[in-house]
Amino acid sequence: MALCKDFIKKHIFFSNDLSDDPVKAQKRKDLYTDMIAQIISESLFFFQDDYYNADISTIEREMTHISYCIETFPVVNAMVDNQNNYIILNLFTMTAANNMTVITELLDLLSRPEKATTSQIMLFALKWLNFYENEDMISTYIREYGAKKQILPVVENGKMYAVCKGYNLSPPQKYSEYMYDIFKLIFLHELGHWQYARFKEAWKMAYKKQAYNALKKQYANKSVPVNQKQLESWMQEIIADYIAVLVYTKTSRQYDDSKQCTKHCYIAIGLFYGLIAMEELAYERYKKGTEKHPPVYIRQNAVRELYAGFFSDILKIPYDVFMENEIQEWYVIESYFSQIIEEYWRKHYG
Ligand SMILES: [Zn+2]
Repeated sequence: MALCKDFIKKHIFFSNDLSDDPVKAQKRKDLYTDMIAQIISESLFFFQDDYYNADISTIEREMTHISYCIETFPVVNAMVDNQNNYIILNLFTMTAANNMTVITELLDLLSRPEKATTSQIMLFALKWLNFYENEDMISTYIREYGAKKQILPVVENGKMYAVCKGYNLSPPQKYSEYMYDIFKLIFLHELGHWQYARFKEAWKMAYKKQAYNALKKQYANKSVPVNQKQLESWMQEIIADYIAVLVYTKTSRQYDDSKQCTKHCYIAIGLFYGLIAMEELAYERYKKGTEKHPPVYIRQNAVRELYAGFFSDILKIPYDVFMENEIQEWYVIESYFSQIIEEYWRKHYG
């Protein structure tokens, strides 16, 4: 089932007018509706029929009736409301995602066609790690996107809006195109929750088992330090990420013999985890996790291992080779952000 963009557009709603000036509001809405409808139309998918707890035609009908609520309040977030069949996306996430693409030197290096080893790339990356630009980038993120950001009330024609400069998606960076990919991964994560909620019990169990083992491995065989309710929630986050990454890379296959999926898609996945790692830091929850979400380093390691395990199995590539050749970009970006964030945290909060 392919839903066309125009059909999806009719299901996109904004929580607020984007301006009190009706012409300006309409212009902004058209722009964002088009962008988001494009992302959604490229992302909707089904598992095989036998995954679902209902007839496939029921699942199809539900999917065609999803409403997409675009929140304009400046937070980086998204969620599924299964009761009302809503997927809620935050426009502000796009600006925050755009901000993640400022690591141009590293992205230049990773985008080159010639192959460098991970250790060669990390050597370069290490040189940049201590640059004040990195500290600056993180400070900027915390100031403009974090919990303590200033939300500027803007008054237009006597009506007040909580706006951030982000609504114009500026300033564009060299690699701003990744902003769409990061947003798409966030959408796919939510769609992953939506799908999982409709799985048969047997499939839920199969996914949970994998997620549990991946989590447990991160705690080196100590028990996962949460209660049952939290564990349930953490497993669901791992599963939603895993589904998102599998679906996203599936649409980014390449058919030369160097690797299975494009550099582009693994760069985007690295930046997606970079973004949620920045969020964790900016909300002063570094390495802590929440009631709902595992700490980001646990989350990304668990998902990467699940993904690598799945593919190295199918492709009969040893795990280490897979990490080095297939998903190098993801791993390098993830390590890069982990290190600069660790350094920042040690300096400012440690
Ligand atoms: Zn989630």
